[in-house]
Amino acid sequence: AWDYDPAPERAELANLRAHYRPFIDGAFVDGTGEPLKTSNPATGETLAEVGTAADADVGTAVTAARAAFERTWSTMPGTERAKYLFRIARLIQERSRELAVLETLDNGKPIKESRDADLPAVAAHFFHHAGWADKLDYAGFGPLPRPLGVAGQVIPWNFPLLMLAWKIAPALATGNTVVLKPAETTPLTALAFAEICQQAQLPPGVVNILPGGGDTGSTLVAHPGVDKVAFTGSTEVGKLIQSRLAGTPTKLTLELGGKAANIVFDDAPLDQAVEGIVNGVFFNQGHVCCAGSRLLVQESVAEAVLERLRGRITTLRVGDPLDKNTDLGAINSPEQLAKIRELVASGESEGAQRWTSPCALPDKGLFFAPTVFSGVHQSMRIAREEVFGPVLSVLTFRTPEEAVRKANNTPYGLSAGIWTEKGSRILWAAEQVRAGVVWANTFNRFDPTASFGGYKESGFGREGGRAGLEAYLDV
Ligand code: NAD
Repeated sequence: AWDYDPAPERAELANLRAHYRPFIDGAFVDGTGEPLKTSNPATGETLAEVGTAADADVGTAVTAARAAFERTWSTMPGTERAKYLFRIARLIQERSRELAVLETLDNGKPIKESRDADLPAVAAHFFHHAGWADKLDYAGFGPLPRPLGVAGQVIPWNFPLLMLAWKIAPALATGNTVVLKPAETTPLTALAFAEICQQAQLPPGVVNILPGGGDTGSTLVAHPGVDKVAFTGSTEVGKLIQSRLAGTPTKLTLELGGKAANIVFDDAPLDQAVEGIVNGVFFNQGHVCCAGSRLLVQESVAEAVLERLRGRITTLRVGDPLDKNTDLGAINSPEQLAKIRELVASGESEGAQRWTSPCALPDKGLFFAPTVFSGVHQSMRIAREEVFGPVLSVLTFRTPEEAVRKANNTPYGLSAGIWTEKGSRILWAAEQVRAGVVWANTFNRFDPTASFGGYKESGFGREGGRAGLEAYLDV
């Protein structure tokens, strides 16, 4: 049972302070970069001053990862690697309260999400990949599946620990070693994870964590000692990395932005669809790459859906992320809040009708009320650009063909949702919609056994499932 007084966690978190610096070759070290402050977006309180890694530290970490790769990790039997991964998974479970509170403090997401969604998914990802470590030779990847070497991994701030798990678990299971850079606004759980690596007695150098900004990430991905780069973040930075790596032998996978359509047909179970629409766009304040940020609703049921939707949204509570009843927490940074405000203003000036939930917002901290735009046209910025906030754009359609055409009218192709009672229509639409993940009569479901990833400007490569392992293997 949880008491929602974070005091015990705050004591544990105070013990972590010595570890708010780069983790290289099994030890926490003073980086040579400028320290960065990370704060709680719900209060503005500074949580920690974190030591960062500059170019020289990136080199040291890559060298340590290479040595660990050659010395132990790539030659260790899979059964042994599995034991370490199982141990890490269990330690994550044992420390999940502390990790959930730390994630909520640093990121702003509601505690009920970090507790019930992020942390269980993080543990599940390590358990799943622990199970793969000793089976790679028999799983049909091709003759002699071999690790690639040192993986350079860069992740965003929206699911700090889960994105770390998606990166590190498959890399380690397949015998690669890792240098990972967390996002500048959310480095703390990655450093707690480094401590877990120590607790699990993972051989030094197998996992290295480098807090820092975009420059650190840029140095890491271009380092000649890195054999494989895995990046999750914006399409803009993904393209920069892709052009940086052109002409090099470094392997690359990119998980980028999205502008998912949630398509509601007139025969859909409407109450269930409304829950799915709400979850699709307001989960994690909409800071979700696969967020269902475009609602495509069949014209004949559009009014009914909008009415139920507004009623349901009015019940959502926005506020203190540490309150177990909170549905939407804080926006992660002032820059992100400014970006949301700017895109919402563009929706108004381009002529869409704005509706905002009448919920009360806290006096301090970074918050944004759930917002719905109706009367949206495909040419408007709010229909084309990723808002990455609690903002839904509603468009209508008359025929299934029109729905699919509109769903595909985006440079992105990460995910989509389909709501209908007709199985044949689900199969038809899933085939027609160009998205790496398609949910039917549900949304935002994740499982380590299912591959996740995008088409078009949402990137390439898959994480999770069998395809996710292929990204870290040569045959
Ligand atoms: P971002 O691209 O600004 O930053 C992501 C990471 O890249 C950060 O760690 C940052 O420090 C680093 N970085 C910045 N410049 C760099 C450079 N030149 N070279 C190397 N690294 C650099 O993205 P963000 O704002 O942190 O995250 C939001 C974006 O991430 C959204 O577009 C979202 O859709 C996307 N995202 C995608 C997925 C997915 O699986 N497809 C998952 C989560 C988030």
